[in-house]
Amino acid sequence: MAPILVIGLDGATLDLVGPWVKQGRLPVLGRLMREGAWGRLRSTIPAATFPAWTSLVTGVNPGRHGILDFTERVPGTYRLRFVNGSYRRAPAMWTRLTHAGRRVAVVTVPATYPPEPVAGIMVSGFESPLSAAVDGSFVHPRSFYPELRQLVGRLPFGDFQQFDPAPGWHARALERLFDGIARRTHLARALLAREPWDALMVVYGASDTVAHHFWRFHDPCSPRYVAGPFADAIARVYEALDAAIGTLVAAAPGAAVAIVSDHGSGGAGDRVIHLNRRLAECGLLTFGRDPGRRVAGLLRAGALRVVPHPLQARLLRRVAGAAGRLEGVHRLGGIEWSRTLAYSEELDYHPHVRLNLARREPEGIVPAARADETLARVVAALDDWRDDDGRPIVRRVWRREEIYRGPFVERAPDLLLELALAGGYSSSCLPSAGPGPALRRLRPSEYGAGRGRGMNGAHRREGLFVLAGAGVRSVGELATVDIVDVLPTLLSLAGMDVPLGLDGQPIAPALAATPRFATDPLADDPVGPVPFDDETTGELAARLEALGYL
Ligand SMILES: [Zn+2]
Repeated sequence: MAPILVIGLDGATLDLVGPWVKQGRLPVLGRLMREGAWGRLRSTIPAATFPAWTSLVTGVNPGRHGILDFTERVPGTYRLRFVNGSYRRAPAMWTRLTHAGRRVAVVTVPATYPPEPVAGIMVSGFESPLSAAVDGSFVHPRSFYPELRQLVGRLPFGDFQQFDPAPGWHARALERLFDGIARRTHLARALLAREPWDALMVVYGASDTVAHHFWRFHDPCSPRYVAGPFADAIARVYEALDAAIGTLVAAAPGAAVAIVSDHGSGGAGDRVIHLNRRLAECGLLTFGRDPGRRVAGLLRAGALRVVPHPLQARLLRRVAGAAGRLEGVHRLGGIEWSRTLAYSEELDYHPHVRLNLARREPEGIVPAARADETLARVVAALDDWRDDDGRPIVRRVWRREEIYRGPFVERAPDLLLELALAGGYSSSCLPSAGPGPALRRLRPSEYGAGRGRGMNGAHRREGLFVLAGAGVRSVGELATVDIVDVLPTLLSLAGMDVPLGLDGQPIAPALAATPRFATDPLADDPVGPVPFDDETTGELAARLEALGYL
C-alpha cells in the first residue's frame, strides 16, 4: 500500500495560492494541482487552529472530539484553563494507523501535546511548554530527543513577541519564520530517510503567522496598507513552503500526497467591534467598577514585555497565581454579574456570547427556564447590529447545538458568531475595557497592532486541500469539501477501511479506488482529559500570548 505524506500549511488560502500558481511562483503546488485534485476546505466554527486541526485528523466535529478552543471554562467558575492534546476523545489519524499496525511520524501538528505513544515518532505542536523543549518531553519516544537535537537543534515554535511591533521586528520575525520552515523540512526529510513510514504528517505554522502580521504590506487594497520592504513577505513564505513541499514529496517517492490547511486567511480592516459594549447597549450586560481587570492586564503585559521569554512563565505565576485564573480576570474582570444576562470573552479569533446562567455561572442570574428567550434577545441584538452604512456587523449567529453534535457540546459558548466582512475585510473583535462605543474605527497608529489589539491579517473559514500521487485521480478542481472529510480520504488512500459513523466522507471523486466502509474498530476514548498543571499553564499562556491568541 502506498505511504501517505500529509503536509499541513496553517492558515493557507487558495485566495493567495491560486494567483501565485498561475504566475508560476509556486511550481510544486501548481504541479500537484495539475496532476491531482484540489479545492476549498471548509473549516470548523470557529475557524481556529485547535478545533480545526483536531477535526481534520479525527474526521469528527468539535462537539464529539472535545477540543473546541485553546481554553475551556473551569466548571462553576468564570475562570479558564488551557486544553491539551489529551482532551481529544476521538481517535486521530495516527491512533488509527497505529491500531492497524502501521508506522507513523507526526511532526508539530497543533493540539498534540503531550505526545502520544504512536507506533513511530511524534514531535508535539507549538503549544508544547518551554520546559518540554528543554527536557525532550514533547517527543515520543523520548529516546528520539537526542537525535532530534542533533538534526535540528532547537525546534522553533514561532514563539516570538508580537506586541507592538518595534522597528526591526518584522525583519527578525520573517527570518525566524524561514528558519522554522527550514528546520521542520530538515527534520521531516531526515525522518523520511530514516525508515519507510506508512504515514508522515508535518504542519508548518509560518503561513498563518505571516498572514496575521504582514497582510497590510502585501495588499494595496487593505484599509491598513503601507508600502514598504515587506510587500513580498507573504509570497516569500509561501514560496519557501512550496519548496519545502517539493523537498518532502521528492523524499517520499510513490506516496499519496495531501496538502491541507486548517482554515484560510485574509485581511483585517479598520473596523473594531466590542461585543460586551453591544450587549450593554441592548440592556444585556452592565459594566462594573473592577480595577482587577486593568491591573491584571497591565501586570501581565508588562511582565511579558520586559522579561526574556523563558522566565515569563515563572514571573507570571509569582505575580498573580495560575495563569488560567489571570486569564479569566483579564477577559471578564469589568463585568457586574448581578446585572448581566449575557457576556463575551471578546476573542478576536473566536467571537461568541455566553449566557450568565444561574447554577452554571457562579454569579449567574438567568434561570434555566428563561434561557431560551434570553438567547433569542441576544440573537436579535446581534442580528440588528448595523454599521453607519447600514451593513450588518454579524453575518450569522449560531446556537451551539446547530453546529456541534456529541458529548462535549456543553463546553462551547451558547452562541457562536460569524462576523460579516466589510468590503472583504474582517472586523477585529477586541476587549471592551469598560463602557464606550461598541463600534469604532482603528486609529492609524493602531494599524500595525500586535496580538490582542487587532492584527492586520485574520482567519477565514475556507482553507485548501490538494491531493496528488498514488491513488489520486487527476480531476483538477473539486467543489468545496468539509474539513472532517480529510481523515476518511486519507484512510482510503492508505488502503484502510473508512470507519462508519464519522462526520466526514471520503472525497470520492479524487480517489482512484472506491472507498471501503466498515464498522469502526476503535471507540471514542472514554478516559477523561488531563488538565495542564499550573506551571505548564503559565508557559502555555505565555506562548499563546506571544503567538497572538490571547
Ligand atoms: Zn490555524
